[in-house]
Amino acid sequence: MSVEQYVEGLFSTREDPDLERVLVSIREHGMPEISVHPSYGRLLTLLAGASGAVNALEIGALGGYSAICIARGLQPGGSLISLELKEDFAQLARSNVSAAGFGGMVSWRIGEALHSLTELEAEGKTFDFFFIDADKGNYPNYLDWALKLGNPGAIVVADNTLLKGRVADPAKDSPSVLAMRSFNERIASDPRLQGVILPAYDGLAIARIL
Ligand code: SAH
Ligand code: MG
Repeated sequence: MSVEQYVEGLFSTREDPDLERVLVSIREHGMPEISVHPSYGRLLTLLAGASGAVNALEIGALGGYSAICIARGLQPGGSLISLELKEDFAQLARSNVSAAGFGGMVSWRIGEALHSLTELEAEGKTFDFFFIDADKGNYPNYLDWALKLGNPGAIVVADNTLLKGRVADPAKDSPSVLAMRSFNERIASDPRLQGVILPAYDGLAIARIL
């Protein structure tokens, strides 16, 4: 048994119908089964709660799994804005998030995230918590946006920052690999951030805006 399987065994008996509903609905709609790993979903709830976040921003909604995890951690009266390219994905996320009881807390912006981010800036929105989990080539741009829209002390979490190991393979040089290497280097050494990268599963970066 791997240590990851051992850890999963500790939590697997905990039933979670709201998250289970998301996974089943994604499967039924033939959508990609790429919701955040359940362990990292728990970490999203923990970090949102421990940081006292009120206003959160998510980039990449899919079926609403991570949105539910983040909403669970936000302070009472908090809100989450979720950016999603595909209208049908956002509809499914909306239905799953409502079924989980967070319909009043979460709103969606459909279309290219970079476009929605420009709008959020024009509206004067700022955030305490970010979850970056969309097109990998734009991670450095999304980090710039988090620095622009983040309140001091804001937490930035990003999923899949190891690209199934491709970032560590010198033979790989696709645009998304190059972008993710640059993103990870900034998590490690940008003086405006205090960062860490967890290498389990597909990698999770966590940073605090100083
Ligand atoms: N955060 C989700 C999983 C997101 S999967 C969860 O863990 O539950 C990645 C999502 O990003 C997909 O739904 C995809 O449609 C969306 N996406 C991809 N490119 C995007 C873009 N340029 N702007 C906004 N969303 C995008
Ligand atoms: Mg992901």
